[in-house]
Amino acid sequence: MIIPESPESWPTNAPSYFHVMAKPAGSRCNFNCKYCFFLSKNKLYPESNFRMADDVLEAYIKQVIESQRSPEVTIAWQGGEPTLMGLDFFQRSIELVRKYARPGITPNFIIQTNGALLDKEWCNFLRNNRFLVGLSMDGPRELHDAYRRDKGGSPTFDRVMRAARLMQRYHVDFNILCTVHAANVQHPLEVYRFFRDVIKTQFIQFIPIVERVTPELLDIANKGWDERQDRPLYTQQGDMVTDRSVNLDLWGKFLIAIFDEWVRRDVGKVFVQIFESTLASWMGLPASLCIFAETCGDGLALEHNGDLYSCDHFVEPNYYLGNILHKHLIDLVASEDQRAFGRAKSECLPRYCCECDVRFACNGECPRNRFSLTPDGEPGLNYLCSGYKAFFNHIDRPMRIMADLLRRRHYANEVMQILAAEERQL
Ligand code: SF4
Ligand code: SF4
Repeated sequence: MIIPESPESWPTNAPSYFHVMAKPAGSRCNFNCKYCFFLSKNKLYPESNFRMADDVLEAYIKQVIESQRSPEVTIAWQGGEPTLMGLDFFQRSIELVRKYARPGITPNFIIQTNGALLDKEWCNFLRNNRFLVGLSMDGPRELHDAYRRDKGGSPTFDRVMRAARLMQRYHVDFNILCTVHAANVQHPLEVYRFFRDVIKTQFIQFIPIVERVTPELLDIANKGWDERQDRPLYTQQGDMVTDRSVNLDLWGKFLIAIFDEWVRRDVGKVFVQIFESTLASWMGLPASLCIFAETCGDGLALEHNGDLYSCDHFVEPNYYLGNILHKHLIDLVASEDQRAFGRAKSECLPRYCCECDVRFACNGECPRNRFSLTPDGEPGLNYLCSGYKAFFNHIDRPMRIMADLLRRRHYANEVMQILAAEERQL
């Protein structure tokens, strides 16, 4: 296979930076988390063995390096479960990065994993190559095991704990990715304190689970997305959600409860991605999280066979851009289809959002969740709107204080003393 060369003239619409989440094992996973609709994506490739072949791997590494104008290149792996590919695959990827990296390029390696296959050898590899590992965990035992089960239906908490401890022992850099759903959303402090005090992580991401469904698919979807059963392909359609999905108001309360604890004792010690991104908005800077950015389209998903899609949340036929074995990555990223996808995030905002006081921080959140009606009946409102509205309004004052501190070249953590002094006077 001849890998497409980079274009002679650089596409005018090419973004200065973008990243690709590559899925070397496609949707294949050794777990069977009930809310994971990605398991159903095997229906896109009924004949596949779900293993990224060497020519696709080489094309991905070569093209992703050639496509960046900045010295930083992110090589990101996700799934499904990427570690199912085995260590040899990732060792080969490092060889290819060495082969194609220009002088001055800094590769950043990221892998998202459920942790089950990690062992000493994996940990040495991850540490030696400076991978940042995202470990998926939903809180303490009962909350984690509510939906995160293996193929036999057994709980997975002990395996994930073991992975966290191993990574600590071998000094692997990792953070926690916690999905928030019907089982853990009512336990915000239990979840947060578990990560802070038991896992002792400093970096936490919270992702709300919103599984959209049509009325016809609701019963089937509520049973889970196990690929062994005859499930339909999940697509971002329908204005109903599964029983596991997070409740919109509880999502707001979840964020508020954790923020209130964080802003009083953990600023500068624990980094909660959603708070960090939101602080940037209060400072008038672009949000670091795509869901809160004005436009998007710069975080794409690559399937195991080289098919590129607009976003990890839109791996479905209508958002297929092309295959990197046939067209160079930068041409696909700069294509009008993809640029229009990114612009649509702001162009399709309902009037209710345009007039909203916290639009500067929210920007209507992710288009995948925009399936509700505004109070005056306009479609396209984010399902999580009332939760976000409550959260952004609640944090306004401490965010203003932190933004002001940073502008005056102070540390944001001084907010903790300011709030403590105020509360003593009450
Ligand atoms: S569709 Fe949502 S998740 Fe995807 S890039 Fe846009 S904002 Fe981000
Ligand atoms: S809080 Fe609601 S109304 Fe305001 S921008 Fe976000 S989704 Fe729109």
